Amino acid sequence: MFDFWRRALFLPLALLLLSLLVWATAGALSATLFFSIFLLILLVFHLRQLEALDYWLADSNGRAVPDGPGLWEEIFARLNKMVRQHRKEYEQRVAALQHMEQATSALPEGVAILDEAYRIEWCNPLAEQHFGLDSKRDIGQQITYLARQPEFVQYLAMHEFSEPLVLSGARQDGLTLSIKLIPYGGNNLLLISRDITHLERIETMRRDFVANVSHELRTPLTVVNGFVETLHDMPNLENSMARRALQLMGEQTHRMERLVDDLLTLSKLEDTLNVLQEEAVEVSGLLRSLHQEGQSLSAEKHTLRLELANSCALLGNADELRSAFGNLISNAIRYTPQGGEILVSWHEQGEQPVFSVQDSGIGISPQHISRLTERFYRVDTSRSRETGGTGLGLAIVKHIASRHQARLDITSEEGKGSTFSIVFPASRRLPLRAEEAIATE
Ligand code: ADP
Repeated sequence: MFDFWRRALFLPLALLLLSLLVWATAGALSATLFFSIFLLILLVFHLRQLEALDYWLADSNGRAVPDGPGLWEEIFARLNKMVRQHRKEYEQRVAALQHMEQATSALPEGVAILDEAYRIEWCNPLAEQHFGLDSKRDIGQQITYLARQPEFVQYLAMHEFSEPLVLSGARQDGLTLSIKLIPYGGNNLLLISRDITHLERIETMRRDFVANVSHELRTPLTVVNGFVETLHDMPNLENSMARRALQLMGEQTHRMERLVDDLLTLSKLEDTLNVLQEEAVEVSGLLRSLHQEGQSLSAEKHTLRLELANSCALLGNADELRSAFGNLISNAIRYTPQGGEILVSWHEQGEQPVFSVQDSGIGISPQHISRLTERFYRVDTSRSRETGGTGLGLAIVKHIASRHQARLDITSEEGKGSTFSIVFPASRRLPLRAEEAIATE
């Protein structure tokens, strides 16, 4: 700072001294004139440098920083250094960005950055391919304007991204995408799309195979079962061992029939072409009938109560709901020892209709709960078989619940009992005539 003033004031002070000398030799007027002319020259000199600087600042793109003598030499040198530093940093950033772009282009997944209004801020080539985008033309456009599949638009509108969306026929026929949205940095969203066409094809083959095998097994099983029953009931069958063997054969073929039926039910539920046929289901009536069936299954071994605290009907499929509710009631009966209590209820949680079955049965320890809806997952295999279980009941319930956009909640304590609840979305609630809460013993 001191150096600056020293250099800046050197010339004016020298001029002042010279002017004083002129004053002493040629008088005040000549000295004032001399001083003014030199100040004017100095001013013009500085203005010229400022003009050069202003000219450069107005369009510095690619042009060299001006240079000038005296004080300006150092100022321009510093500016030049700053500009070079800035250009270097800029080039480094561009290189890093290009590097990132190359890396994201090599990703086996489509990636796009969306703003809070789902406008595309950036996308990689694979995302362009998946959604038919053009990164030069479509930046700033809303993605729903370019990818208009109703399922995709609805998925974005729901703003619930915990589960990925499987989108079939996206852009090209036969292309199946798994789409995931990850919110980040406040309002932005990272969209990741993965081509799962191949996996879907394998999954469809698996589903078809299970459905076909189950279907093919059904007829021979019915025939075998018929013969076994006929033989077992023959009056002249005296050999007790043969009778016992036939009885066991009958039990096993019945079990196989139940398995085949459950596998076929699951295949039907998984079939993407099997769209949910919806109607207004009067749940109270349905539950009264299931309650009666439950009582005959329990054979008076349990206290089975029905509580109808909800008067609304439900938008759904009556057959599927009967199957899901029936499965949960039958499980409660099968896994509750004699003398236990079971409460079947239809009520509301806020605006959401809820079906639940609470039992005082054997309960389930916490490590099993998250896996109960997997096919053939059993906590106690022998107990499941003894009570005629197939290991597929809860998988069926889970499928039916998700086809109705409902949630299956399970709470349980080993040795104390369990509660299985199906929580339906409020949108499925249909107001029905006012009905009083009924409690049936
Ligand atoms: P399963 O035909 O074996 O009953 P599910 O899919 O219906 O098959 O149920 C899976 C497993 O969950 C059962 O094997 C059982 O161990 C457990 N489970 C289901 N419901 C209950 C319940 N109410 N109480 C205790 N355990 C249960």
